[in-house]
Amino acid sequence: MSAVSAQIDLFSLFEAAPQAILAVSSESKIQLVNRRTEVMFGYQREEILGEPLDILLPKSSRAAHVDHLKNYFADPKLRAMGAGRDLVAVRKDGVEFPVEIGLSFVKTPHEVLGLALVSDVTARKRAEEELTRVNRELRRSNAELEQFVWVASHDLQEPLRTIASYLQLLEKRYTGQLDQDARDFIRFAVDGAVRMKGLLQAFLRVAQAGTQATDFKPVPGADLFQSALQNLRGAIADAGAIVTADETLPTIVADAPLIGQVLQNLIGNAIKFHTPGTEPRVHFSAERKGSEWIFSVRDNGIGIDPKHSSRIFDVFERVRNAQEVPGSGVGLSITRKIVERHGGRIWCESEPSKGSTFRFSLPAEPVGNIPTR
Ligand code: ADP
Repeated sequence: MSAVSAQIDLFSLFEAAPQAILAVSSESKIQLVNRRTEVMFGYQREEILGEPLDILLPKSSRAAHVDHLKNYFADPKLRAMGAGRDLVAVRKDGVEFPVEIGLSFVKTPHEVLGLALVSDVTARKRAEEELTRVNRELRRSNAELEQFVWVASHDLQEPLRTIASYLQLLEKRYTGQLDQDARDFIRFAVDGAVRMKGLLQAFLRVAQAGTQATDFKPVPGADLFQSALQNLRGAIADAGAIVTADETLPTIVADAPLIGQVLQNLIGNAIKFHTPGTEPRVHFSAERKGSEWIFSVRDNGIGIDPKHSSRIFDVFERVRNAQEVPGSGVGLSITRKIVERHGGRIWCESEPSKGSTFRFSLPAEPVGNIPTR
């Protein structure tokens, strides 16, 4: 006997256990309980010893319990009780509470006793319910917000069109009668209207990326790459960029137009943010890591200061001055939304003036149709 076990007798351990421990005969009579059973169920142990286990169960589950007990004694072994079911116990004062039960057994010289180890999981259940409630509320308010952004951006476009066109009409009709100041003011107002139109369209695109229905199908990576090249041929030619990809690319289960947009945004940015005076080189590759594919778009462009590398995925975040390189700052936030709707993540690794590598992961196994909400 070791020094520790010599000092603690087994009954004290049984009494001190944080779970209620009950030994039950095959006739469902309570034979032995520990101190925690008294606290948890509100009985003195004399009150329940020899009583049927039923008194600790809600009336609604007593009938089923008889069968469960019979089955257990037919093949007693160590296992959890009620896997996948919510188990409920009842206190002496009639209050029901959720429990988790582990089953085991002991063999005495005369019989086999079933052992139930009961944990009160009220606090955990409450926390789970609260989490589910908050989650549901969050989804709802997020959906409402996206809907609001969509409707607002959509409806604001019409009055904006009216403002812009009447300003232009004013300029055209009254050219001769207006002095330079008046013409400048009209020009500033038109510029503002055009910029606002761009912003509203960007809002619409972001809102759409979160709500669009998705259609998941197998799509070869090479097809995605080819169509991105096709759509970007103007930008590629203008910049004299060399865009390459791995010789073999995997087939993934994805919404092709949406993932196509991801690739196009990333390659488009890689070309857009090239180092002036240097031939832009962009490479698209894929690597299997466990249950995921990690796709990378690597460039030799201006790079991103690591302190900005997570901020750029937020809506309207731009590192460069908007005047230097055209853009609205929504591309990467849409890209992230799409990747996340595919069950993936996106991040950026970069060294300023050396280039950037944007990586996104996608589950390698079919993900099925992911619901919009
Ligand atoms: P936009 O391209 O319209 O500015 P994005 O959301 O696509 O908006 O990108 C956000 C910002 O991230 C860009 O303004 C730029 O500062 C930075 N960025 C994105 N891709 C690259 C890249 N390949 N190299 C360097 N900077 C980049």
